[in-house]
Amino acid sequence: MNYDVIIIGGGPGGTKAASLLADAGKKVAIIEDSHWGGTCLNCGCIPTKMLLGAAAPAELIQAQQRLRVLKGESSVDFAALQNRIRRFLKGSSQTLARNLATRGVTLLEGRGECLGEGRVLVKTAEGEHEIQGTDIILSCGSRNAAFPGLSPDGDCVLDSTGMLALNEVPESLIVVGAGAIGLELGHFFGSQGTKVTIVEAAPHIAPLEDTDIADELRKVLTKSGKTCLEGVRAQSLETKDGQAELTLADGRVLTAAKALVAVGRKPNSDGLGCEAGGCTLDRRGYVQTDDCLQAAPHVHAIGDINGRVLLAHAAEHQAHYVARRILGLE
Ligand SMILES: Cc1cc2nc3c(=O)[nH]c(=O)nc-3n(C[C@H](O)[C@H](O)[C@H](O)COP(=O)(O)OP(=O)(O)OC[C@H]3O[C@@H](n4cnc5c(N)ncnc54)[C@H](O)[C@@H]3O)c2cc1C
Repeated sequence: MNYDVIIIGGGPGGTKAASLLADAGKKVAIIEDSHWGGTCLNCGCIPTKMLLGAAAPAELIQAQQRLRVLKGESSVDFAALQNRIRRFLKGSSQTLARNLATRGVTLLEGRGECLGEGRVLVKTAEGEHEIQGTDIILSCGSRNAAFPGLSPDGDCVLDSTGMLALNEVPESLIVVGAGAIGLELGHFFGSQGTKVTIVEAAPHIAPLEDTDIADELRKVLTKSGKTCLEGVRAQSLETKDGQAELTLADGRVLTAAKALVAVGRKPNSDGLGCEAGGCTLDRRGYVQTDDCLQAAPHVHAIGDINGRVLLAHAAEHQAHYVARRILGLE
C-alpha cells in the first residue's frame, strides 16, 4: 500500500498533521498503538485540566463560605467527576478518529516501525504488514520516566496516568518531582482534602522557573497546607504494608496512602526503527532534528519525540510547520 505521507503516532502532533495534509489532498495513513488523541487527550492535558477546572469553582465557593457570606455544603463529587472525564475522553477520542476518517485519512491501529527508504511495518493485533510512504512523520510522543528505586508499581506508587485513574481521593500523597505535572496533581488532590508532601531534588520547587516564581508558589502551597521539601533527593520508593514508603537521601522516611512519581518524561523511540529510518537519537533517546524538524531525508519528527518543547500546543504548531513543508509551502 502506497501513501504520500505515513504518520506514526496519533497524539495532538500526528492527528493535526494528518488532517492538514489530508485536507490539502495528500494520501495519508496514521498509525496509533493505544488511544487516538495521545497523551494529551487520554492521560495528560485534558483530564488534568478537567480535574482542576472542577476544583477551581469549589475552592472559590469554599473561600466565600469561610468569610460567612455563602452558606451550605459544597464539595466535588470525585466519583462523578471521574465518570464524566472518562466519558468525555472516550467520546473525544472516537470523534477525533471519525473526523480523520471522514477527511480520507487511513487509520491503522497498531505499532509502526521504520524499515528505511519510506517503508513502515505496521504491527496490529491481526498480524504485520508493510506500507510505503513518500514522507514519514514521527509523532510518537513520550511516556512517564522512572528511575531505579523510584518505579511506579501500580499499587501505592503511581505515575501520572495511575493517579488520573484513581477512583477515590487518597488520604495522603507524596509527590516526588515538583514540575508542572507533580504540582498540578498535588494541587488538585490537596484541594480535595488529601495531605500532600512535595519532594524536589532541585534547590526549589518548579525547577524550570525562576526562584522568585518558586518563592511565591511555595508560599501559596504552604498556606494551603502542603509541605514542600526542596533540595532533597528521593532514594527509594515502594509499597510497604499497604502504603507508599519513601526513603530520602538524608535518611528520613515518609509514608502516605499514595505516592506520585513525576520525575519527567521519556521519548517513545524504542522499537520505532529510528536507525533503520536514517534518524539519530540523542543520549536520552529523543529523535534529533535540524532547524526544519527534519530527522532524515523525507522523515520529520514533531512533538515530544524530538524533545524540543514537551507541550501539546508545541506539537500542534510543529505539525502545521511540517505539513506546510511537505506541501512545499514553507
Ligand atoms: C499529566 C500531564 C499533563 C499535561 N498537561 C499539559 C498541558 O496542560 N498543556 C500542554 O500543552 N501539555 C501538557 N502535557 C504534555 C502533552 O500531553 C504532550 O506534550 C503532548 O501530548 C505531546 O503530543 P505528541 O503528539 O508529541 O505525543 P503524544 O500525545 O504522546 O502522542 C503520541 C502517540 O503515539 C503513540 N505511539 C507511540 N509509539 C508508537 C508507535 N511505535 N506506533 C504507533 N503509535 C505509537 C502513543 O500511543 C501516543 O498515543 C501534559 C502531559 C501530562 C503527562
